[in-house]
Amino acid sequence: MPLVNAAEMLTKAKAGHYAVGQFNINNLEWTKAILMTAQELNSPVILGVSEGAGKYMAGYKTVVGMVNGMIEELNITVPVALHLDHGSYEGAKKCIEAGFSSIMFDGSHYPIEENIAKTKELVAICKEKGLSIEAEVGAIGGEEDGVIGKGECADPQECKQIADLGVTMLAAGIGNIHGKYPENWEGLSFETLDAVQKLTGAMPLVLHGGTGIPADMIKKAISLGVSKINVNTECQLAFQAATRKYIEEGKDLQGKGFDPRKLLAPGFEAIKATVKEKMELFGSVNKA
Ligand SMILES: [Zn+2]
Repeated sequence: MPLVNAAEMLTKAKAGHYAVGQFNINNLEWTKAILMTAQELNSPVILGVSEGAGKYMAGYKTVVGMVNGMIEELNITVPVALHLDHGSYEGAKKCIEAGFSSIMFDGSHYPIEENIAKTKELVAICKEKGLSIEAEVGAIGGEEDGVIGKGECADPQECKQIADLGVTMLAAGIGNIHGKYPENWEGLSFETLDAVQKLTGAMPLVLHGGTGIPADMIKKAISLGVSKINVNTECQLAFQAATRKYIEEGKDLQGKGFDPRKLLAPGFEAIKATVKEKMELFGSVNKA
């Protein structure tokens, strides 16, 4: 199945009270591990690409070529969306041109009026080209490509203003942060989430910073309208731990253990296991 936008899979997820995972990709191994796991579990999936990762993978066109090639060669039949994560206005335009099926425009650092103006313009372009679009209100804490946010809670009225522009999905800050959560983290603000959902109705809500949020909080967030959950750091940590183990055990020094296909295999399997665990937790298994 060719790339699809994320609208239908998220509308179904919201109605069915589960969430679709967005898993960020960094290279071929990441992409293959996520696509194969989605297919094995018969789950819809969203591949996230940050601007930094897009640059690392030699540009958005390279990413589109790799993902489309893999969907075809691996016979991936579950719905797959290729989504720009935390896009700038310029980055969003580049991805639309390169063949992404979905974009996020993160205007959360602009004053609300400017966020609205730029989001509105991109909504019109995405509508015309058949892409889905995610907007963000209230900065998500932690580091987003060099920008440090505090993890503030979004203003529900501002969320409604942005939702009414015709975006497909909305990321609202509810105390969530990117990367590892600190010891003194106060948890998700379900009060904010509840207020946002009441004002935005059927709009699928997005939870960023899915790494390390306890399972019961994830489930509660889904029950309050979250239908897309972003996972990035957790796959990185799983890949790192498995690769470290391989090298610490001296396996790279045995036989052809230096072959990159062998060296990267444990990390690849670790990503698959992490993605599987998340899809089961989010409830998207067999929802393709
Ligand atoms: Zn994010």
